[in-house]
Amino acid sequence: MSQKVVVDQETCIGCGNCEAVCPEVFKLDPAIDKSQVIKPEGGPDCVEDAIDQCPVEAISWQ
Ligand code: SF4
Repeated sequence: MSQKVVVDQETCIGCGNCEAVCPEVFKLDPAIDKSQVIKPEGGPDCVEDAIDQCPVEAISWQ
């Protein structure tokens, strides 16, 4: 089973929380003010923290 971390680009409001708690996996793109997944396979447990910290629930595993 291999899941990928996804940021829903419609929903993301570019708050930066995910990058703050999990910079290995998430990076804010300042040009569009959306978070990009730079490591879709995830990584450290911080992905779960990022999911918890996202105010609009834009992050999911698919
Ligand atoms: S925490 Fe959620 S809303 Fe904020 S930048 Fe990350 S994905 Fe977007």
